[in-house]
Amino acid sequence: MTSRLNRLAVAFLATALATLGVTVANPAPASAAMTICYNTSQAGSYASVANQAASIWNNATVNLTLSANCGSNLRIYRITGGGSYAVRTSLGNGRVYIDTQQAAQYSVLRIMTHEIGHILGLPDNYNGNCALLMSGGSAGTSCTNPYPSTAEASRVSNLFAGTFSATDRSADIFRDSWPSALTPVS
Ligand SMILES: [Zn+2]
Repeated sequence: MTSRLNRLAVAFLATALATLGVTVANPAPASAAMTICYNTSQAGSYASVANQAASIWNNATVNLTLSANCGSNLRIYRITGGGSYAVRTSLGNGRVYIDTQQAAQYSVLRIMTHEIGHILGLPDNYNGNCALLMSGGSAGTSCTNPYPSTAEASRVSNLFAGTFSATDRSADIFRDSWPSALTPVS
């Protein structure tokens, strides 16, 4: 039984190495198992939310690990007004800003995991589907889902394996729409 498992393990390893061979052939491969050090010194009361969001991403993905207090690949800020947004300087690096006014209406954990999703290479997908993390505020204030879908998580894992084009890893700014849910005064 053990040897059979060993053979399976060897077969699996061979497949993994074959996959790695494709990755190495990429002109700009990302390093395997990147550690993304995030810094919450400017996150105020949202530091614990950032920790929860990091755990969610770590549990959902491979090839990357978000880790606290080891550096500043990702700085997280608590701001008031102007909207939540993410500034990606490169894949796994940048800044996330969480607006307290939006967090008063929407799940702050969902906002946090969404904005970190941009740093991890995901674009917005405002289709109103609460099952998607990157649908953001389009899913409404009742949507509190903070988890990436299987497809979203797989895309991030693949990006950190270096299997997508350079444009997925480019610098970008994601000004987010978490539209106000306040009823206009008539
Ligand atoms: Zn977004």
